[in-house]
Amino acid sequence: MSLTPEQILDIEKRAEAATPGNWRTEECHSPACWCRMVISDHRITEPPFKGEFATIAPSGSLTKDDAEFIASCKQDIPALIADLRAARELLDEAEGVIAQYAPGFDVLLDKLEAFLRGGADETAE
Ligand SMILES: [Zn+2]
Repeated sequence: MSLTPEQILDIEKRAEAATPGNWRTEECHSPACWCRMVISDHRITEPPFKGEFATIAPSGSLTKDDAEFIASCKQDIPALIADLRAARELLDEAEGVIAQYAPGFDVLLDKLEAFLRGGADETAE
């Protein structure tokens, strides 16, 4: 099952609502520690932490791999959404060409469209 346009919009809204700025990881204050923090490039505008970088996840809870995954989501999710939308626009173009020059590919085109436009269950056949 692929994502519906509404599901993509919901994901996009959650990404936009999160603390702005690129997110990155930093080692906690003890160099030998296992954990990492997730920090935003966004600086806090209100006291008492005005001017400091926004902390997404403080030290003591995230492994290095989990922190890197969370930090990358802030940049990766909008990029994935943009790429998915571009792929779906390309499908629109391909649909027109296939319909004009290769009408026998309708079945394949229907499957591609169902998958890329979202909401289709591939096991439904
Ligand atoms: Zn630590």
